[in-house]
Amino acid sequence: MVQTRSQRIVVIGGGTAGITVAARLRRQGAQGVQVIEPSPVHYYQPLWTLVGGGQVDARSTVRPTAKVMPRGVDWIQEAVTAVEPELDTVVTTSGRRIGYDVLIVAPGIQLDFDAVPGLVEGIAGDGIASNYRFDLAPKMWDLIRNAGPGTTAVFTMPSTPIKCGGAPQKIAYVAADYWRRKGQLDSMRVILSLPTPTIFGQPEFARVLEGVVDRYGIEVRLHSEAVEVDPDAREVTLADTEDGTKERITYDLMHVTPPQSAPAFLKGGPLSDPADPMGWVTVDKYTLRHTRYPNVWSLGDASDLPTSKTGAAVRKQAPTLVENMLATLDGREPTAAYDGYTSCPLVTSRSHMLLAEFDYDKAHAPSFPVVDLVKERRSMYLLKRYGLPFFYWHGMLKGLA
Ligand code: FAD
Repeated sequence: MVQTRSQRIVVIGGGTAGITVAARLRRQGAQGVQVIEPSPVHYYQPLWTLVGGGQVDARSTVRPTAKVMPRGVDWIQEAVTAVEPELDTVVTTSGRRIGYDVLIVAPGIQLDFDAVPGLVEGIAGDGIASNYRFDLAPKMWDLIRNAGPGTTAVFTMPSTPIKCGGAPQKIAYVAADYWRRKGQLDSMRVILSLPTPTIFGQPEFARVLEGVVDRYGIEVRLHSEAVEVDPDAREVTLADTEDGTKERITYDLMHVTPPQSAPAFLKGGPLSDPADPMGWVTVDKYTLRHTRYPNVWSLGDASDLPTSKTGAAVRKQAPTLVENMLATLDGREPTAAYDGYTSCPLVTSRSHMLLAEFDYDKAHAPSFPVVDLVKERRSMYLLKRYGLPFFYWHGMLKGLA
């Protein structure tokens, strides 16, 4: 590799993607790597489903950013407010301009609670929580364990792209299993509102999940999303995404997955498609190189990669991006290709899980080909609960896996 100390590699975001890429770069001997990350703490978000389900302590999902920052990387603790790719600079909150030779854009996804009228007020009060935020996942568990017999629980999913497409339904299953074990599920009404035409995009996994919702007696609304919340009346309005008809439901507790989009600084900016109000960074879906600026790369939730936004996807994207980016610094063409791999660990109870894995062709891409993964398994639950977090902190974030 001929990358020199004077070539500055700037990474926006020190989350799953940013730290994984920075660690891999350092392992390959890259110099002059800077990570711009405002947060003093780093989260392992996949466990927030089990935090909301009362099975994991939230504190085990967080580490100081300083502890995960790879050795030899310069951490700039600020947020980026603009990117100027014509000038090869990024601007930060303090007004500082940071020049780069290579830019890797990985600021994750933005949660738009304010896109649903009444939701910001609702989430601040009683009865509504969300596993999509570290501070709100423990609140979800309080709502679940305090729900009495005869109550109504609503679980929602927005029609925007979101991170971890399975998370809106996983918490419904973990909660329903809890109420079943307590002997009160039959007296409750549990509604799962999904904007999609089927319960899951892949037919073989959809069939298993249909059995899961039947088992719990969950009412599934397809083509459905929450468009308004009235926290005082404890009412949520679900709209049919096809014909626009609306239905108001009185809830006792609700889990919301908020609408999501790219971070505000990307929207309408030079790195996204001017016709796309969501603001995703446009990249070649195989090489992860920006479609217009050859020294800009992107991966993870902020990119427009046409696959499900997960940490598992990032694990496969990071080595491809690093290999391709270093090749270009060497004067070679990028040849490594990301195949769209992503996975969705669908927790279906408090003890079992389905591991759905697929690629761009929606082809089933199992990591353990000898095991029938189109089946709820205790072993997969244990992998999610214990194996994957260990693998994340000690393998992926160290650039080893
Ligand atoms: P993040 O890890 O979110 O990191 C983005 C970073 O960018 C953050 O540290 C942020 O502070 C920083 N940032 C933001 N704005 C700026 C800015 N302006 N300037 C600089 N830095 C900025 N994935 C799985 O693989 N399996 C699962 O089971 C799973 N379950 C999930 C369950 C839940 C409830 C949630 C919320 C997520 C789940 N995920 C799961 C998804 C996974 O966590 C994300 O897809 C993954 O973290 C994406 O990595 P990222 O680096 O793109 O974004």
